[in-house]
Amino acid sequence: LSYSADEVFSRIQHEGIKFIDLQFTGLTGRFHHTTISANTFTPEQMRDGLPKLDGSSIVGFTSIDDSDLVLKPDPNTFAVIPWYTANKTARLLCDVYWGEDRGRLSRDPRGLAQRAEEYVKSSGFDYSAWGPEVEFFVFDKIHWDVLTPYKGQSYSIESEEAPWSQSGSGYPMGLQEGYYPSTPSDTLTPFRNECVNILSENFGILCDNHHHEVATAGQCEIDIRYDYLTNSADATQSYKFVIRNVAKKYGKVATMMPKPISMDSGSGMHTNVSLWKDKKNIFFDEEAEMELSQVGRYFCGGILEHSRALCAISNPTTNSYHRLVPGYEAPVYIAWSGSNRSAIVRIPRHFKGVGYARLKRLEFRAPDPSSNPYLVFASVLAAGLDGITKKSDPGDQVQEDIFKMTRSERAKRGIGVLPANLGEALDELESDKEFLAPVFPDDVIDRLIELGRRDQREIAIRPHPHEFYLYFDV
Ligand code: GLU
Ligand code: MG
Ligand code: MG
Repeated sequence: LSYSADEVFSRIQHEGIKFIDLQFTGLTGRFHHTTISANTFTPEQMRDGLPKLDGSSIVGFTSIDDSDLVLKPDPNTFAVIPWYTANKTARLLCDVYWGEDRGRLSRDPRGLAQRAEEYVKSSGFDYSAWGPEVEFFVFDKIHWDVLTPYKGQSYSIESEEAPWSQSGSGYPMGLQEGYYPSTPSDTLTPFRNECVNILSENFGILCDNHHHEVATAGQCEIDIRYDYLTNSADATQSYKFVIRNVAKKYGKVATMMPKPISMDSGSGMHTNVSLWKDKKNIFFDEEAEMELSQVGRYFCGGILEHSRALCAISNPTTNSYHRLVPGYEAPVYIAWSGSNRSAIVRIPRHFKGVGYARLKRLEFRAPDPSSNPYLVFASVLAAGLDGITKKSDPGDQVQEDIFKMTRSERAKRGIGVLPANLGEALDELESDKEFLAPVFPDDVIDRLIELGRRDQREIAIRPHPHEFYLYFDV
């Protein structure tokens, strides 16, 4: 969907909209809003923006001594939010600017995504297409075990249907037993149907399919149709917003945390990408191995080459690295392959026929949903285009299950490993950031590293509950 400013004002008037939520995304991916009254909203404000934001209170944005920012609504993103029934409310996604004509805030993630789209064009292509597969968990409750989460050291979660609580559907589901069970074992089907309806009817985001995922009761996936880079990142933010709010309506909580349950599958955000020129998907070549063109191979080579640094952006939390371990379909090793889910880049194949060329794409499996989608797509794009420039061929694909290889087998085949923790990923980003320069200003990278180091320290200074099991009796 896309609207002009005039259309937005006419809808506000004709549909009796009372409030507008101005939404935007902070540097670490958190979604924010401030609400304005529709009857005071003017076309000038739509054009020039509203000086409504204290940038020092948004993680990663500005310092306190220079913090006045402007939210400039994008009329294309108009959507009516269906769960505010008492007072009809619509939302507009906003771009973030400095006040007093000082230009775009360099740390506005949406601005970085738009820069990435410019970079595709100046590199000689028309556009890139992005389709994220977001997985997430739905729980009944989260219990904070200690006084405040700020001081907290542990928490626990509860899921109606999980083995540790048999009160749900009556059909217990163990760890990693959740893939495609029919109802009534899968109690979340109505919840996902409702999310899909709202996404398509209110937000113009089409979903091809949805299902229960591999982990125990509560893990879901809803897949959205691919789109241009910024649109797709916008859609990912709207998706998380809808899921959290619909979950709340069902009396539940949804989390994008990559690994909430130990010994069970984590949640990924596999990111599918293709590159287009003259209305053609230039990753497709009917004659090539796996129908992946040479340009596609170079793009893949760029992702593999920079994957360790990319992790700092695509897997930006300390929790992310609990997911990137062998045995749970999350990638660990730096290799590419056709259908092998232990590699970080997979090349999905399709039946010959309708959409055969259009659907050719790379699936980058490292990202998780705790990441900021604007930054993920922009950085993966920069890595891929760097691969094209440098003609980085990825070499032979790896057909075998890499989880089953020994260390020396991997070494012999030149298969590297992803960072083991956030600290390693940040070190990697610090030493390999050149490829990001066409899209990411230095101050953005520096800020991301600083924020990551802060989380890393917060975790490092606290004893982990499992340490009591390992060491209490030493
Ligand atoms: N949940 C797995 C992950 O963490 C992916 C499962 C799948 O292949 O869809 O990436
Ligand atoms: Mg999945
Ligand atoms: Mg996938």
